[in-house]
Amino acid sequence: MQSLISACFAAILVATIVGPAASDPVPSDTPWAVLRCVGNDVDPSIYLKTPVPPAYANNTEGFLKDMFTATGKGKGGLYDYWGQVSQNPDLMKGTSLFPWVTLDISNLQYWNLQIPTGEQPLRTFVQTCLDQYIKKGTATVGTGQPNDLNSYYGLIVISYIPTAGGEQGQHDLSLTINGAPWRASTGVPAVGTTFDSISPKAMGHEMGHGYGLAHASCASKPSNDADKDYCDSYDVMGDNGALYTNSNFALSLSVTNQSHSSTATVNLGWSGPGLNAPHLAYLGWVPSARTCALGAGACEFVTGGLEVTLAALGHSEAPGVFQVGIPSSIAPLGGYTVEFRRASTCASPSIGPCWDQAVPDSVQIHAGWEPKGQSHTLLVDDRGGALWAPGQMFDDGAVQILIETFNLAANTATIKVRWGSAYVPPPGRVSGPRACEAAGGTWVCGDPLIGHRCGCEF
Ligand SMILES: [Zn+2]
Repeated sequence: MQSLISACFAAILVATIVGPAASDPVPSDTPWAVLRCVGNDVDPSIYLKTPVPPAYANNTEGFLKDMFTATGKGKGGLYDYWGQVSQNPDLMKGTSLFPWVTLDISNLQYWNLQIPTGEQPLRTFVQTCLDQYIKKGTATVGTGQPNDLNSYYGLIVISYIPTAGGEQGQHDLSLTINGAPWRASTGVPAVGTTFDSISPKAMGHEMGHGYGLAHASCASKPSNDADKDYCDSYDVMGDNGALYTNSNFALSLSVTNQSHSSTATVNLGWSGPGLNAPHLAYLGWVPSARTCALGAGACEFVTGGLEVTLAALGHSEAPGVFQVGIPSSIAPLGGYTVEFRRASTCASPSIGPCWDQAVPDSVQIHAGWEPKGQSHTLLVDDRGGALWAPGQMFDDGAVQILIETFNLAANTATIKVRWGSAYVPPPGRVSGPRACEAAGGTWVCGDPLIGHRCGCEF
């Protein structure tokens, strides 16, 4: 979250690094090397017994293995999470938990290295630990040995800092091996965290940065709101900690019920949330056959408006497309991306999709359309509420999206889109800035210029 410390995380740094500008599909195998560094003044009997969820009492190793590696498959850890959202169950295959390594400096010195300005520079944090692994031979590069870091997609670095927390992630961190640049042309996907900050929610978010994603924003908050950059509650990259809290291991979260009438926090069990369609597309996880880009191919222009069936994200068994792209030279950010989300149930976290249980059944509309997805998304939320339901119409004066029906048995939703010359202004409404001006009014919009937040004022 932009090196920006969120007040809602007292004493916890939650930093965010923006993903790469260009789309960068994730490879089909992304093994992570999980490294762990501790100061030379800490008794191992302390950090090896760091409190973990009750089910893992006195078994920190088992906890971390289940959190990140294939031993946790089916237990709802990050291995399952990324496997499900990518539709590639073993995306994290080969992820390995490396042994703890003791630094040549104290824990406090290590911590002070990280926070010269009150933030946590990821590079210093990761490089210091990496250097010690190489120095001690606990990890190697270019040897072909099992501990050869070249065989890993990226690094997750954990430190034992008892009194402070923080986590960061970046897709292209600049690192060196023995002083020489390592993967100089691409940088290295990397996550850094203190032990106290390890949670499925936080690690899911930071690994999202590692895979190349930026944040999931929403349109309803003003641009000067500190939470705006990640106020899309339905994407792990928008999770700001105010809406989701960890109840225990296994990405089982409590979530604020997002509706106009209620803000109660309820535990909805296995939950994520997952990733939105622009994020999935950005990582290469939406097949082209599951994308309908208006004006192209099967989504040809239709005078009366085009009816499209959306399959709920993650439901590959359902008919329909996962995203509809609506290009518009008038709409902000070049158009819209539309998706359908379901409050899904699941029998097992490795079967899924389990991660959207806390998401209301809703059509979701994102400002912006890019065929290869977006790293930074902007949700057109309905005043922070539960988004778009049958009968509701989104209209921005150039694009009209009518939510027709949900077929929950089939995990689909049907929408009707009118745009271009098929656009029909809703009855009784002065629609669009030019019509408004011609009628003698002033076209007023919220921030940014999104749909229902705009209107003609006289
Ligand atoms: Zn972030």
